[in-house]
Amino acid sequence: MAEGDTVHATAERLHEALAGRVLTRSDVRVPRFATTDLAGRVVRDVAARGKHLLLRTDGDVSVHSHLGMDGSWRLYRHGERWRGPSFEVRCVLETEERVAVGHRLRRLEIVRTSAEDLILGHLGPDVLGPDWDLAEATKRLVADPLRAIGEALVDQSVMAGPGNVYRSETCFLAGVDPRTQVGDVPDAASLVDSMKRLMERNRGGGRRVTTGDPRRGHELWVYGRAGRPCRRCGTPIRSFLQGADRRIVYACPTCQT
Ligand SMILES: [Zn+2]
Repeated sequence: MAEGDTVHATAERLHEALAGRVLTRSDVRVPRFATTDLAGRVVRDVAARGKHLLLRTDGDVSVHSHLGMDGSWRLYRHGERWRGPSFEVRCVLETEERVAVGHRLRRLEIVRTSAEDLILGHLGPDVLGPDWDLAEATKRLVADPLRAIGEALVDQSVMAGPGNVYRSETCFLAGVDPRTQVGDVPDAASLVDSMKRLMERNRGGGRRVTTGDPRRGHELWVYGRAGRPCRRCGTPIRSFLQGADRRIVYACPTCQT
């Protein structure tokens, strides 16, 4: 699942491969932008803002994408076989050396770079970005004290980047049930800070580890572990749906009160 850590790692890889290069061909497979031709444009930089990815070219043109649940950008050499079915490809950008392919993107649009803020201005401080501001994120988190903490933690207007995995893992580490009202959480700032530290540790990409144990099947405390024993107390982990988007949240009924 793409959370801020994955998106930042993707942006760094794309930036390394494409920044400063001329696009030799583009193929945007979204009806609204199907006629867009980016050939001849120079890629200035590729950056992440929370879960959003921005590939900026000269001439005030940005390719904005959101990976959603399982989207990705992959880099290939010319002639190399692409992974996954071709009907899932949403965007192809080529330079002389590389081919960047966006698979299963939830959102893809071509926008004016100078108008990026119209799309992304609502985002809170980016947990992994240069604009990170713990005090501001905490202020936004506690703004609605009646809201469940698990919902507030993944609200991208509170802070940009965290998703379902970090919500469950952070609440477990804090010993807080995700359904607790924000106003009843004893130390919201340290909760936000602990989420930030978990995400920093995983910003390189690859398999996400929150337990400190990278062995397969040992990486996470509660996420995806419904019915399995809690790593701390042995109680079976429970799952439930939370928020308007009804996502599955995991918690230990003993360790999290
Ligand atoms: Zn437990």
